[in-house]
Amino acid sequence: MIKRITAVLLTGLTVLSCAGFLSGCSAKSVTMVDVSGDTIALFRSADASEVETEAVAKAYADTALHEAREIIAAIKDISLADGLKELADCRIETFYDAQVSENLANAVRKSEVAELPCGAAMTDNQGHLIACYSTDEQDENGGYLNLAIERQAPYSTLKPLCVYAPAMDSGMIDWSSVYEDKPYKQIPDQSGEMKDWPQNSDSKYSSEPVTVAKAVLRSLNTVPVQVLHDYGVSKAIGLMEESFGMPLEYEYSKASSSGEDEVIGNIALGYTYAGLSPVELAGYYSVFAAKGVYLAPTCVKRIVDKKGETLYEYRAEPKQVYSEETAFIMNNLLRRVANVGGTGEEAYLENAYVAGKTGTGESDDGHWFVGTVPQYSCAVWHGGHTARNASPAVFHDIMQEMSLDPNADYPWCNGVEERAYCEASGKLPSSGCTKVDIGYYPTGSKIEICREHQ
Ligand SMILES: [Zn+2]
Repeated sequence: MIKRITAVLLTGLTVLSCAGFLSGCSAKSVTMVDVSGDTIALFRSADASEVETEAVAKAYADTALHEAREIIAAIKDISLADGLKELADCRIETFYDAQVSENLANAVRKSEVAELPCGAAMTDNQGHLIACYSTDEQDENGGYLNLAIERQAPYSTLKPLCVYAPAMDSGMIDWSSVYEDKPYKQIPDQSGEMKDWPQNSDSKYSSEPVTVAKAVLRSLNTVPVQVLHDYGVSKAIGLMEESFGMPLEYEYSKASSSGEDEVIGNIALGYTYAGLSPVELAGYYSVFAAKGVYLAPTCVKRIVDKKGETLYEYRAEPKQVYSEETAFIMNNLLRRVANVGGTGEEAYLENAYVAGKTGTGESDDGHWFVGTVPQYSCAVWHGGHTARNASPAVFHDIMQEMSLDPNADYPWCNGVEERAYCEASGKLPSSGCTKVDIGYYPTGSKIEICREHQ
């Protein structure tokens, strides 16, 4: 369990006092610097230790300190508490970008969620965590609650990661595979009455065949449940744990008597026990924009001790999570979500390509948008029990503050081709098909000709 830093707000500077941190090392301190070597936080050790940092860097300093502590604890094979003590007198060099942080904080504070609990994180396309944001919140013990690393239920943001991309990678589904928009089964509600499950967000079923593309665009709940059932939920969990280190270890152990179907529902609809943080989700979504390669979001570039010796230096450890083809196709599906008619259309930018996904809890207890532009990946979560998901609009405002290159595009994939398909059957259109759309498919993958409309 991570010990939280206690925050006390002072004018101009934020002082975080961290119980136990560097105790017994009264003359010592830890310096945290940004990419240009400028100090962003000074962890002092006046008895129980205090931290000086500007308000805009507070969430990042907290996130980077947690990471540095974990790094040292792992290197020296010691406890996290001892890892913190080992950092005494060290200098932590980070990937913090002061300008991006400023932009991120400005955008959120000017937005409609300014008064609501909000956490956000931004990575560049090299896996470096360059900015974090958290409103000033306290946990139940009065400690600083950093919403950039606090885990929340990911809701529908989990569908592309845990359901569609693995199923596409295995060849089980493609852009226009057809599923029926119907209940998976009936389950008893609180009064014992049998009810259709799962519900779509509009509580309606079209009971008609829908393509995967349309299911993603409308964030249907019926389709990912069927896809995950067919793919195998334990296989999906294993893949997510192995490739991302996603915290899904409680899904089976905490499932009740309904067993497998409960796990399917929790994964397919994003109600996981541990949840995911904005930092984690920003890292995961960058995979779709980066040829399927995952780089864990990282704050700490280098840790140097008081003698000037390097204790740790960051080395990227890229992991191929999905194939390049799957990543490209998923990214194009997610681009539709962030376009006119998609659930994330408010994230759309005139001057940059956006790909992303919304997520909202059934009782409106949290709202997400996680998305990328070619240069960055950004996750925004807000609470506040509002009916409206303002996160796509906040993402839009954040990216508006960035100097984005309008000519930048996502990497092209040579193993993919663009093809027309019949929207009703998902197959290659014949002369009689009236509703035809364009999709992306692995080159040479076989698609039958629609025979329904000949
Ligand atoms: Zn047809």
